[in-house]
Amino acid sequence: MSRTPGRAGRFTRTIPAVPECLFCQIVAGEIPATVVRDDDLTLAFRDLNAQAPTHVLVITKAHHADVGALVAADPDALTALHRTAAAVAADEGVAGPGWRLVFNSGPDAGQSVPHVHGHVLGGRHLEWPPG
Ligand code: 5GP
Ligand code: ZN
Repeated sequence: MSRTPGRAGRFTRTIPAVPECLFCQIVAGEIPATVVRDDDLTLAFRDLNAQAPTHVLVITKAHHADVGALVAADPDALTALHRTAAAVAADEGVAGPGWRLVFNSGPDAGQSVPHVHGHVLGGRHLEWPPG
């Protein structure tokens, strides 16, 4: 499912919660994304720079800086994010073979977008420990 600004469907244009936030702009439809799941609380879309055959980002529609901020503010939304991530893994056919849900948080972990997002990774063998 590809979604672009102005396209009809469940996608509703809104004003970005944090106007300078890339992922708030995706939620608002100001920046296009290849959406694979969309519900009231969460959005899942393919990473622009995929690191595995399945690489989907799962975000809350509301802006939270990282997973720590999210669980403090809205634990139900964090549960919803995990539910969406598991559904994406099932949809992508990686739930059986194996997949990983990664939250990079803060500069040492390489978080580059300060809006909480889980990386759903799968479709190949994933090394451990991570780099
Ligand atoms: P982080 O580095 O913060 O853990 O993850 C941010 C992710 O967002 C990166 O994997 C990067 O490839 C992805 N990304 C950055 N800009 C865009 C964009 O405009 N669209 C999509 N779909 N992904 C993006
Ligand atoms: Zn945001």
